[in-house]
Amino acid sequence: MNRGLFLDRDGTLIPDYDYLDDPELIEIVPGVSDALRSASALGYSLFLFSNQSGVGRGFFSLETVHACNQRMLDLMNLPKDFFIEICLATEHPDEEPVYRKPSPRFILEMAAKHDLDLNLSYMVGDKMSDLETAANAGTGGALVKTGKPFSEEVCSYAKERGMGVFDDFVSFVDKLKAL
Ligand SMILES: [Mg+2]
Repeated sequence: MNRGLFLDRDGTLIPDYDYLDDPELIEIVPGVSDALRSASALGYSLFLFSNQSGVGRGFFSLETVHACNQRMLDLMNLPKDFFIEICLATEHPDEEPVYRKPSPRFILEMAAKHDLDLNLSYMVGDKMSDLETAANAGTGGALVKTGKPFSEEVCSYAKERGMGVFDDFVSFVDKLKAL
């Protein structure tokens, strides 16, 4: 079986810009490109998993999200197919959630499709919904501090479930290297 890493985008790999719709705004969180390469070299299958309610809200199109993702990969000098799959949950928050985090559905579908061992996989993100997604999917979780400030409640949620809290994605990958 394979080990998977499900990576939140906004606040984890790039800053959280709130409804990002302009590829030119994108910057990469320092060190993330090399950390992604390291995680891949460790044998993890990498998935991008992003809630993009801006699409469901009608703020921007799915094509815009694809353009932003491509710009992010370009800035990191990573190939177009670097992520095994890009999982985008575009529902409006008022809609019945299907794929939107904290729904575990994307992770469960990817696990079945790509033969992932969820006990050895992680969801990494900067928000409570990322941690809840990990818990709902039965996979490991990790909280990074590169997004908007989060409450003590989020930190406690992580710690109570044995999920690590990290300064950034780079520190998380350093932990993976030490496993
Ligand atoms: Mg985020």
